[in-house]
Amino acid sequence: MTTPPMKPTTTKPATDTAARVREWLDARSEEMAELLTLLVAVESENPPGRELGHCARVLRDAMDRLWLSPEILPVTAAPAATDPTTPSGLEEPCVVRGTAGTPDGEGLVYFHGHFDVVPVQDRGQFTAVRRDGRIIGRGTADMKGGIVSMLYGAAAAQELGLLGSGRVVLHLVCDEETGSVVGAGHLRGAELIDPAALAMVTGEPSGGSIWNAARGALSLRVDVRGKEAHVGQADRGVNAFQHMLHIARPVERYATAMAERHTAFPMAPEDAPGTMVVVGGLSGGGSNFNVVPGSAYFTVDGRYNPEEDLEAEAKRLTALIDGAAREIGADASVEITQLQPPAATSSGHPAAAALARVASVVQGARPRFEMCAGILETRWYAQLGIPAFGYGAGRLDVSHGPDEYVDEAALRRCAEVYALYAGELLG
Ligand SMILES: [Zn+2]
Repeated sequence: MTTPPMKPTTTKPATDTAARVREWLDARSEEMAELLTLLVAVESENPPGRELGHCARVLRDAMDRLWLSPEILPVTAAPAATDPTTPSGLEEPCVVRGTAGTPDGEGLVYFHGHFDVVPVQDRGQFTAVRRDGRIIGRGTADMKGGIVSMLYGAAAAQELGLLGSGRVVLHLVCDEETGSVVGAGHLRGAELIDPAALAMVTGEPSGGSIWNAARGALSLRVDVRGKEAHVGQADRGVNAFQHMLHIARPVERYATAMAERHTAFPMAPEDAPGTMVVVGGLSGGGSNFNVVPGSAYFTVDGRYNPEEDLEAEAKRLTALIDGAAREIGADASVEITQLQPPAATSSGHPAAAALARVASVVQGARPRFEMCAGILETRWYAQLGIPAFGYGAGRLDVSHGPDEYVDEAALRRCAEVYALYAGELLG
């Protein structure tokens, strides 16, 4: 066994590189804050999916200034016709793609993000406020801030020559908040994701932890049909609401049982380890209070742990509902509105270890590996065998809320991690 006399010499260049990247980013801290302010001002709310083309053009111009060779790829919102969870109101849906490093270079790392945001609680959230080292506004954490970090991380790596003969490809999609079947679905469908890529990272608000796993999503809608009749002649009708109550009961028991099926992946301490299913997120029916309801419906929406088989669960739920309907002779149908498999990359994968190493250097502490409680776009890459991670500056607990913010120093730290990570894998 050899002693480690090499250690100081191997550590030093890495530290030097980190220092050069930090210096490059610190010199652009105002620029980064200004770009985020500009992006927050674009009201790319989804649903319904407004101003997506506008947001893409702002991103393209910013990427142009950073020499990231941007192009806007128009996509069709066609899945909306078949998927009722995807709103058809996407305005100019598209993907913004950019490249750092050598075009068609040897190694490839993906930086992936989304520029749609959830609807605001207050229109004032579209005016970013800079205060006490923070930028406050819609999308600062989830995830226009993450996009700014990824753009500057890629640009730093390119300008400082960290990418060797490799390249970073940036994919920015427009509809993550409603399932991402249009943007990321297009990337997959058009075979624009290369399965040979070394890694993918997305700047979602992981708060400095590394999300190496994410839940899957299964959503369905149950429609029950009855027969309308005037309240005075209620005996002539068939009450769809009553039938729905009978059908929903075993689904509620299913949800309770699933919450007890715990994941083996570590999670944030405040998150529940079971698969989470909500019954009746949406429900309704009938035509008036004084008429026997001729129709009723409810939704079922679940976030499934990576250990679960979603195809099997979809069959199990459908069988439960069909069985309950048969018991009382109810006319019910089930429509699967979303089926997104979970994703996981082992924390022992070399690409995971490299990300943890780089993040440790920048953060000064080793990041935790955690499963994200929601779904992540890592799935589109992980399903192709690409190691995929969520790692970003924002915090999940403020995302989607009225006081969403991101820490400016954290934005730069994440940009540094992205630059060094690409350098580590490609240089
Ligand atoms: Zn997000």
